[in-house]
Amino acid sequence: MIGSDERNSTTQEVADELRRRSAFVMVSHVKPDGDTLGAGLALGIALKRLGKRVAYFQQDPVPRNLRFLPDTSFVSREVPADFPPDALYVFCDMSDYTRAGEFLPKIDRANMLDIDHHLGNSHFGAFNFVIPSECSTGTVVVHLLRELGVEIDREIATCLLTTIMTDTGGFMHSNTTPEVLELSAELIRAGADKEEITEEIFANKRVAATRLLGRVIDEMTFAHDGRYCYSFVDDRMLAETRADGEDTEDVVNVLRSQEYVEVAALFKDIEGELRVSLRSNGRVNVQAAAKRLGGGGHFRASGLTYHGSLKDAFAAVESALVAEGL
Ligand code: 5GP
Ligand code: MN
Repeated sequence: MIGSDERNSTTQEVADELRRRSAFVMVSHVKPDGDTLGAGLALGIALKRLGKRVAYFQQDPVPRNLRFLPDTSFVSREVPADFPPDALYVFCDMSDYTRAGEFLPKIDRANMLDIDHHLGNSHFGAFNFVIPSECSTGTVVVHLLRELGVEIDREIATCLLTTIMTDTGGFMHSNTTPEVLELSAELIRAGADKEEITEEIFANKRVAATRLLGRVIDEMTFAHDGRYCYSFVDDRMLAETRADGEDTEDVVNVLRSQEYVEVAALFKDIEGELRVSLRSNGRVNVQAAAKRLGGGGHFRASGLTYHGSLKDAFAAVESALVAEGL
């Protein structure tokens, strides 16, 4: 239930704060996906409709497959210099504000609103609106839009349906509840183009990405009686296939979808940073495993940054997964 977590503000308290402030900076996380960006855009567009001033902060550029979303031309790694000091920074889809990256200016906690659906969110804001039972941060935002009485028009509906389709894997993951399907139907009726979203975020694969996938598949290793599958991407593989970091996004799901595999890990050793993506079929809690190594996420999808060699990362991640029941 919303508000059953005493660290959360109520829907009404958050809506009152949104009405009270005049300027907002919607903040998305590094390596943005359709949920962090779509949720921020949906709420940002709604606030503009209410006459508010809205900016969008995102450290990384808008990924190619999300450029079709409305308002993405306003997304920037800088906050406009003339923004009022009491602008509210609205963090979408991150368990901690540090996920926004080091380019984010220093912000008083009093000016932070944390909107999220991750397990283990640190409730870092003066206002926190965290609902882990929601499938996406976008559907958390829907509670606020209803409370504010903003009409969900075609643009807002497109952003919201993108958050749902991103975080349910196109309605395939277990978070695709009847309520999610009902809301999605409402969004499609409001003008969201499901076919366009499918095409933009799931199709349109670059040939380089598919070549890279082939290389990752060649490097797959199976362990624990085939229940664990892992592989890696490094700078050499990217150079040889002419792919880039964005082309690695879906790869871990291919590993997880192999027969008998319960947990998959993809190690991304790119430009001096070692990122690990974990996916589970629902038996092993990969959020808890990632947390052991300083990361986080959801029960079935999590990630972390590892400080050390690829070989050490393989061992550390496997130990963390074993500790969580692999
Ligand atoms: P991905 O594998 O797609 O990068 O991330 C899967 C999930 O884990 C996402 O929900 C993402 O927000 C979360 N996640 C990924 N990396 C980190 C991390 O370093 N820290 C935390 N707290 N969550 C992460
Ligand atoms: Mn999300």
